[in-house]
Amino acid sequence: MLKKSELDLFKTLLTELRARIQGDVDQMTDEALEIGHDEGESKSPTHLAELGTQNYERDFSLKFIENEQEVLDEIGEALHRISEKTYGICIQCTEEGKPASKSMIPKTRLKAIPYVRNCVSCEQKREEFSV
Ligand SMILES: [Zn+2]
Repeated sequence: MLKKSELDLFKTLLTELRARIQGDVDQMTDEALEIGHDEGESKSPTHLAELGTQNYERDFSLKFIENEQEVLDEIGEALHRISEKTYGICIQCTEEGKPASKSMIPKTRLKAIPYVRNCVSCEQKREEFSV
């Protein structure tokens, strides 16, 4: 099991990560909303091709925001697991009935992706199934 000091460290990591992603999402949302407003000096109507590019950029932004939103959800769940003292335990292993002591996600993995919910072998199994 992770020590209290380690849980605190991951809590800090997750909180900082969430603030950073939230900032990105806010910025992207603003930019996505701005696209479409013609702030150029040209008084000619927007060309159709230009409009297409703007739509494409907006779709791209929205896709990005959607992905980031999912990460924010994952972070929220990880923070919840910290408060429940189940953080760092592979969810998949637990579902398979393995004891918590045998389901720990390696700390190096948690440091790389603090909101990760599965150990390496479960993640690999999951990827095989989803392909
Ligand atoms: Zn596992």
